[in-house]
This record gives sequence, structure tokens and C-alpha cells, in this order.
Amino acid sequence: MQVRIWGCRGSYPVSGADFVRYGGNTSCIEVQVNDTLIVLDAGTGIRPLGQALCSPDSHIKTNRVHVFITHTHWDHIMGFPFFQPLRDIDTYLTVYGLRRSERPLEETLAGSLGKPLFPIPFTSQPARTDFREVDFYTTFAIAPDVQVTTARLNHPYRAVGYRISSPSGSLAYVTDTAPFDQILFGDEQVSWSREERTLDEHSRETLQRMHQGVLDLMVGADWVIYDTMFEPEEYTKRPHWGHSTPDHAIGLAAQAQARHLILFHHDPHRTDREIDAIEGRYRARAAEVDLMLSAAREGLTLTRESDQ
Ligand SMILES: [Zn+2]
Ligand SMILES: [Zn+2]
Repeated sequence: MQVRIWGCRGSYPVSGADFVRYGGNTSCIEVQVNDTLIVLDAGTGIRPLGQALCSPDSHIKTNRVHVFITHTHWDHIMGFPFFQPLRDIDTYLTVYGLRRSERPLEETLAGSLGKPLFPIPFTSQPARTDFREVDFYTTFAIAPDVQVTTARLNHPYRAVGYRISSPSGSLAYVTDTAPFDQILFGDEQVSWSREERTLDEHSRETLQRMHQGVLDLMVGADWVIYDTMFEPEEYTKRPHWGHSTPDHAIGLAAQAQARHLILFHHDPHRTDREIDAIEGRYRARAAEVDLMLSAAREGLTLTRESDQ
């Protein structure tokens, strides 16, 4: 298994001199297991990935692409219309995302191409695409040597966490999510007041199930890519945004005995120097619990042999 980060910015893409080293593209990760190509999220990072795949000296020789969407907030799908393999008749694309009773995945993704948003409708794209809706807490194979497991994340309008498992490595992809103690997110908007809120029994049980599900994705994983958009003091001001902190991610990764934690979904305002400082501070803390830690940056490539 080889993992490569193509976009690690949260909320919206950024550019400029302060964002050069970690990059400004939003969520997109490439996972390669032998001939199987998996793409996690279709943020703006999927655009340069698509270009690389279509170049004559492409690093991978396959025309079958499995795209897993955590949720359809803009930052996780806004690159989809600009994914160059969509224009290639030889591409077979399977897009996976959460089953929702009120709006099929296909309607949201295909709807991002076409009137009034895009000049070429989805139905005119030459690639052959099918959509597969997934449920929480399931495991299925997409190739003889590649299994995918899902879990529910604690995020407004809900999101799916994925684990990709193969004999050559395992990756947990957990974004976007809040911790599992203070607020339970569902399909309704959660407003926040400073008063202490109490969760009913059912909400507490649901959060506990989510917490366990996320630990199950992470257990013994070679790599855990985790939403760490907030520093702890930022989280206390915006718990209703549905994002997490490095402290929380380290706690879970240590409990799951994962090998390497990758801080992900960087706040769009966070400069290179600020991310350097966060990485340095938390790397020392992670080392105390025998955990490798890196801040995600565009181009970061991870294999068992060498995490570069
Ligand atoms: Zn996001
Ligand atoms: Zn989101």
C-alpha cells in the first residue's frame, strides 16, 4: 500500500506565500494497493491527481478508480467536476458515499456538473461512472486483497470514516469529526450556547457507538489520517463546527495502537510556520505514547518501508 496526500486543507482552498509547503488544496488522498486505485474525497486536490493519472508517464497503470466520499460538504467534493479522468471514455469510476434517504449520492455529485454550475453536464462526460451508497459499520471488499470498513463520524449532516485494509498496509481516514463527548451531530443543524448541555441517554449511547466504531477503524493501523482542524482553545469556542483537535486524535491513536498519526484538515488560515509549530509540539507529545506524528502536506507519501 502506498498513500499520497494531494490536498489536506479544511473548509476551502487557499493560496499564497504562507501556504506553500503544506499546500492549499482541500481533502484528497490517493491510496494504491497493487493495481487497485482508491481516492479518498474529491476536494480540489483531486484536480492535480487527475492530471497526473492522465499524463503519458502516469505512475499508475489502471483506468479503474474507486472514489470514497466522506460527506458532500463543498471542501470534499468541489474538485470532482475538474477530475480529468471523467473526460476519458476508458475510465471506470465507482463513487462511494453515504446512503441518505432524502437525496441520492448520484444526485449531489452529478448535480455538481451541469446547469447552472458547470458547462458540460455529467451525462455528457465520457467516463463510465456508477454510484454505490454505503451504510455505517459495514465491511466489504473492492478487490481480492483490499477491504473497506465504514463508521459514523460526529459531524453536521453526518460523515463516513473509512478504513482501507490490505496485506501490505492499513489506513484509517477519519475526517470530518468532532470528539464524541459534548455534542451529537445528526442531520439537523446544531446551534451552540455556552450553557452546559446535557445529553440524553440515547445520544450518549450513539456517541459511544461512534467512538468505538472510530477506534475499530484505527486499531493497529499503519496510518491514521485524522481531522485536527482546531487547537484545543479554538475547539472550546466552536464545538458546533464538528471538528477535532490533535490532543483528541493522539488519545484515540494511542488507544488503538496505531503506528503513525497524520494531522489533517488544516484550518484554512493556518500558515506554514504555524503548522510547523503545531507539528513540533505534538510530535513530542505523541512520542511519549510511542506514536509517530506528521502534519499532512501535499506530496507526503507513506509506505511501510519509508514514511517520507
Ligand atoms: Zn471538511
Ligand atoms: Zn464537513
